[in-house]
Amino acid sequence: PSPIHVIGGGLAGSEAAWQIAKAGVPVILHEMRGTRGTDAHKTDGLAELVCSNSFRSDDATANAVGVIHAEMRLAGSLIMACADRNQVPAGGALAVDRDGFSDAVTAAIHDHPLITVVREEVTGLPPADWDLAVIATGPLTSPDLAASIQSETGQDALAFFDAIAPIIHRDSINMDVCWYQSRYDKVGPGGTGKDYINCPLDKDQYDAFIDALIAGDTVGFKEWEGTPYFDGCLPIEVMAERGRETLRHGPMKPMGLTNAHNPTVKAYAVVQLRQDNALGTLYNMVGFQTKLKYGAQAEIIRLIPGLENAEFARLGGLHRNTYIQSPVLLDNSLTLKSRKGLRFAGQITGCEGYVESAAVGLLAGRFAAAERKGEAPSLPPATTALGSLLNHITGGHIMSDDEPGKRSFQPMNINFGLFPELEPGSIVKPEGVKRFRGKDKTIMKRQLVSARALKDCKEWLG
Ligand code: FAD
Repeated sequence: PSPIHVIGGGLAGSEAAWQIAKAGVPVILHEMRGTRGTDAHKTDGLAELVCSNSFRSDDATANAVGVIHAEMRLAGSLIMACADRNQVPAGGALAVDRDGFSDAVTAAIHDHPLITVVREEVTGLPPADWDLAVIATGPLTSPDLAASIQSETGQDALAFFDAIAPIIHRDSINMDVCWYQSRYDKVGPGGTGKDYINCPLDKDQYDAFIDALIAGDTVGFKEWEGTPYFDGCLPIEVMAERGRETLRHGPMKPMGLTNAHNPTVKAYAVVQLRQDNALGTLYNMVGFQTKLKYGAQAEIIRLIPGLENAEFARLGGLHRNTYIQSPVLLDNSLTLKSRKGLRFAGQITGCEGYVESAAVGLLAGRFAAAERKGEAPSLPPATTALGSLLNHITGGHIMSDDEPGKRSFQPMNINFGLFPELEPGSIVKPEGVKRFRGKDKTIMKRQLVSARALKDCKEWLG
């Protein structure tokens, strides 16, 4: 068979190249480092870890990252094999010796007879004779290629920063305090007039919240990131600094909302949360992008009535990050709908993290190899971690009813909120156990979701 071209030899591109070669199909892997660097990479090694050396939890019994590790091992992942061989002690986490890890990936790729590594920058979309290609150029995709992707996909379809508002597990929101209502009961496409979760603040609570925001510790921008504040996307702490009432006239405005628990008392301010995934398990805080440090952020957000026990699927942030609007642009096997044979993989698809990027590389590699062999891509079941991540990227996003045409798509790590719910009645109090509290139920739910994922993954891989 003729080769598949993989652009970018990071976490995703190395894994994609490995999976394609493992399927018996030749690969040409184009990596620009060696001729041109990025602002974050320091070496020319493949799969360089640009920051932490951790692949996070390795617990496959009750942790979503641990589950995706296990699934990737089952699928013969190069990234996981090299991580396992270069592990350093880190409690329940999988952490690696970063140089040993990158050296191992580089050697495996160079030694594979079906893989050719070319050190060059690819400055535009693949030429016509690269009939099958995977773009895995990551959050720091070089500017010329990014511009070409932007002209193919459209101005708004490629983001250069992620401005992320915290995302909260719905079952941790206190609905005795909060209520469902869209502003002015507006019914948008597919909406019900009750699409948002609302958290009411009185004046004292609002003042305390603003004080905490102004005092909160923030994360600075790296010099090369610039200061990417743009209209409509200011961090909440910057808005609070501009004036104590700014938030109350912006994302925390109380107009058009009536507290279902206390209809006669008008809230001084309201925080709105919008459904974030089709499953309805996650809600994002509308307009709450923030650079607050993670510890401070969780603490300050838990000051909001109804969010006192909030569990976060992800905290807010603002980073330099190149990624496309995958749910609109890609089909379910990661192919650009507008260009046959061109797939995307890694962080540029809107996943986040080393492991997740490699996981999407693994899927893109398998799908591309299948296409070269004339086979239909075999999609992972939705109940697996790989399937849940793929569904986050390629679908399952609801339209925002107050911003027509805009989807609530933001990069995300794998987490249990992305998995489909268990069958009703799956969580039962074990015999002999006296007290079965909410926390015990959550643990049991995670264990059941993890076990289901691994079972279904084994079946999928045969
Ligand atoms: P990369 O690993 O960046 O690989 C992309 C590759 O493509 C690079 O080797 C690059 O040189 C190459 N390339 C780019 N443009 C071209 C081109 N035009 N032609 C040829 N080659 C090209 N995740 C974590 O889990 N933990 C962290 O601590 C962490 N820290 C991060 C810190 C920073 C500063 C950034 C930017 C991201 C961080 N991430 C972290 C997020 C993310 O998981 C990593 O960036 C991860 O490496 C993404 O994998 P990838 O394969 O998509 O991209």
